[in-house]
Amino acid sequence: MSMGISEEVYDFGAKILTELKPRFDEIDQVAEINQLKVLGAMQKNTVSEACLLGTTGYGYNDLGRDTLEAVYADTFHTEDALVRPQITCGTHALALALMSNLRPGDELLSPVGKPYDTLEEVIGIRPSKGSLAEYGVSYRQVDLLPDGAFDYENIRKAINEKTRLVTIQRSKGYQTRPTLSVDRIGQLISFVKSIKPEVICMVDNCYGEFVETKEPSDVGADMIVGSLIKNPGGGLAPIGGYIAGRKECVENAAYRLTSPGLGKEVGASLGILPQFYQGFFLAPTVTASALKAAIFAANIYERLGFPVIPNGTESRHDIIQAVTFGKPEGVIAFCEGIQAAAPVDSHVTPEPWDMPGYDAKVIMAAGAFVSGSSIELSADGPIKEPYAVYFQGGLTWPHAKYGILRSLQSLKAKGLVVL
Ligand SMILES: *Cc1c(COP(=O)(O)O)cnc(C)c1O
Repeated sequence: MSMGISEEVYDFGAKILTELKPRFDEIDQVAEINQLKVLGAMQKNTVSEACLLGTTGYGYNDLGRDTLEAVYADTFHTEDALVRPQITCGTHALALALMSNLRPGDELLSPVGKPYDTLEEVIGIRPSKGSLAEYGVSYRQVDLLPDGAFDYENIRKAINEKTRLVTIQRSKGYQTRPTLSVDRIGQLISFVKSIKPEVICMVDNCYGEFVETKEPSDVGADMIVGSLIKNPGGGLAPIGGYIAGRKECVENAAYRLTSPGLGKEVGASLGILPQFYQGFFLAPTVTASALKAAIFAANIYERLGFPVIPNGTESRHDIIQAVTFGKPEGVIAFCEGIQAAAPVDSHVTPEPWDMPGYDAKVIMAAGAFVSGSSIELSADGPIKEPYAVYFQGGLTWPHAKYGILRSLQSLKAKGLVVL
């Protein structure tokens, strides 16, 4: 036993790792391309020491903030970007993008099925104060076909004279559909625009940034939206969200975030810019670590006979890994192992609890430097059928590897797996 891992568990992992070498090499190549993309954008916009200083008060002429937004825009090949600590989380960024670009009488369409849980209240699928529905924005949804394909026929029928914005969620989130590749998103956007060219196509890019060498903005998306406590914050951003896209879309969002007339001109960055810059700089390699972790976990648990989504060999378009244990003890043991491997709060034992908004108890493992950060090694699972755990993150590959081995050790100690 060393650091809580037995030789048997370590060797089991080591054997699987040797088979993964070619895939890890591919991930490193993607990281290299994305690293240079970010670096190139920083150099082109002459990021300087002065950019790391913050402003206070109104935040007029905040060189660092404005330059960072240009860096995001250049990295994602968009006209403009809004990258702010005043955007509190991913849901806020998405709500902002939607509410600022839709007007009463407009219709929102999701052609990829139900959006992320927290968006149900933003849209008004579940009634909520201040939802788009309350402001007279209607909503339509076309589900994916049973095999995961786009239902082109019904998407065509759903697009009408009111359709103003189409929202496409890249990551599967907590559903079982496959995550969309950037190429598939591109095909969908082309189809939508062939029917109605002026429609705004927005992509919920959460968990997808830097997983591929292209982003949805490279294949026609008018806006891509995400959270800085996921991939693009690189683990260093302690808060924030971004919207990158066409100038008009970003301007609408800025007018909504601050005020009509003020837009991007205000919003002091305080002292946060060094973490935003450095986090974005690290994001490609941090995302690569998280991807390796997801693939390693998939292969370990697939080998042991548990259903895993995505499976051990398929290509990846986000950093989330689902493992189905089929019984609560498996979910709990897995989360206990991840928690025990954490740099913060490794001494606590996670327990299932009644989380607001969920219909079953949920267990979470999160020993993160940034509260709730899911680019850091983390796992959670609802204590209900089919007893699946959702696993993501890992700031460094050695730590993520250790966390996964620790989860395996925990399952083994409880007699839930035989190696
Ligand atoms: C995380 C996530 C969100 C919401 O982000 P929060 O920061 O948790 O509010 C939205 N969509 C997807 C696909 C996500 O993964």
